[in-house]
Amino acid sequence: MRQSKLFTKTKKETPSDEVAKNAQLLIQAGYVYKNMAGAYSFLPLGLRVIEKINSIIREEMNGIGGVEMHMPSLQEERLWKQTDRWGDDNVDVWFKTELKAGGEVGLAWTHEEVVTDIMRQYVSSYKDLPFAAYQIQTKFRNEIRAKSGIMRTREFLMKDLYSFSANEEQHKEFYDTCADAYTRIFDRLGIGSQTYKTFASGGAFSKFSHEYQTLAEAGEDVVYVCEEKGIAVNKEVLEDVDLAELGVTREELVERKSIEVGNIFSLGTKFSDSIGLTFKNEAGDNTPVIMGSYGIGPARAMGTVVDLLADDKGIVWPESIAPFRVHLVALNTDDDEIRDWANGIYTSLQKLGVEVLFDDRDTRPGEKFADSDLLGIPYRVVASKRGKEDGLFEVVTRATGEVRSLTEAELFDDFSA
Ligand code: ATP
Ligand code: MG
Repeated sequence: MRQSKLFTKTKKETPSDEVAKNAQLLIQAGYVYKNMAGAYSFLPLGLRVIEKINSIIREEMNGIGGVEMHMPSLQEERLWKQTDRWGDDNVDVWFKTELKAGGEVGLAWTHEEVVTDIMRQYVSSYKDLPFAAYQIQTKFRNEIRAKSGIMRTREFLMKDLYSFSANEEQHKEFYDTCADAYTRIFDRLGIGSQTYKTFASGGAFSKFSHEYQTLAEAGEDVVYVCEEKGIAVNKEVLEDVDLAELGVTREELVERKSIEVGNIFSLGTKFSDSIGLTFKNEAGDNTPVIMGSYGIGPARAMGTVVDLLADDKGIVWPESIAPFRVHLVALNTDDDEIRDWANGIYTSLQKLGVEVLFDDRDTRPGEKFADSDLLGIPYRVVASKRGKEDGLFEVVTRATGEVRSLTEAELFDDFSA
């Protein structure tokens, strides 16, 4: 992509109406635009990051046998009354609106009811189980506070997967497999070492569900962590559970702020009972399906990465989710010969399959370098008049600041891998 064609521009100043670092940097660098409190646009660079996060999530969910689908946001009262989750007294995040044809609809804040209702059509025998279905889809939640930038918004993407099992063993096996997939996802996103599979209350079959909590000063949550044993619990578990069961004492746990990047939950037969999702077991008896639900917020994960990895110069993307791998910064572009040569380097890198953002703008070097630091693309390759004369490219690794001088052959060799 040519930066001269990119309609977004970086700003000199951080936006004054944002308190969260993730939103400040992402807006300043032109990744996102704040349309209103709790609703952001993902601009071309930001969308590339979200798509990369979604791809990692998809790969891992497909890898454990999940199949992708897409359910509507518009929700009817009838279905949600069956689980007693239509009323605003029970659910405080509904957005609802009137249909011109009469009646009320809600905007989905989760999809357990919807997916359970669909599966009634397709599940009849134990032979149909187990399976798992997921979507990456927009949720609407009337959150009271929306202060954490893109990490808590009123309209946001969620990957929500639902598992359907015939018995507890089948369910448990899938639950653990999905938990491992979550660990791999957060590793691949570059936040694995700070992310804990945290014991939370409220699961069927065992006392626990699990939250994936990333330790961060900007977090809205609090967890209690024993780094040595790799154990974390949330507040309810700390207060209500005999910690000895988990092999840890209160003294070993340190209070830390954290961000909930994901959540996995055994639902038991709560939804299948209320909505009537049953199957015939081997003995021919009607039995409720055992379900689980497994969520991740891609934008919250993106904000977490920004918060955790950024330095005083700007964003630092891990290679796995960077919008581009290489930022090719051309200097001295007022010289036609240099401009043509830099264009050639851009084309060659693209032919090698390298994702390149090409700063082909006629701006001052200082401005280009500051923008490059702010954007946080993993490798900056400088193409300058001086470099052309010496036959060398300066290559800077954004995360470490390491500077290398590579010949053209070395450059192509290095990035063709
Ligand atoms: P929280 O306690 O932070 O409100 P939650 O328990 O409501 O989260 P879930 O319903 O389990 O969250 O949603 C699954 C995932 O969706 C969360 O782990 C988080 O990554 C993401 N998520 C939840 N609410 C939001 C939001 N308002 N904005 C962006 N992402 C969200
Ligand atoms: Mg919530």
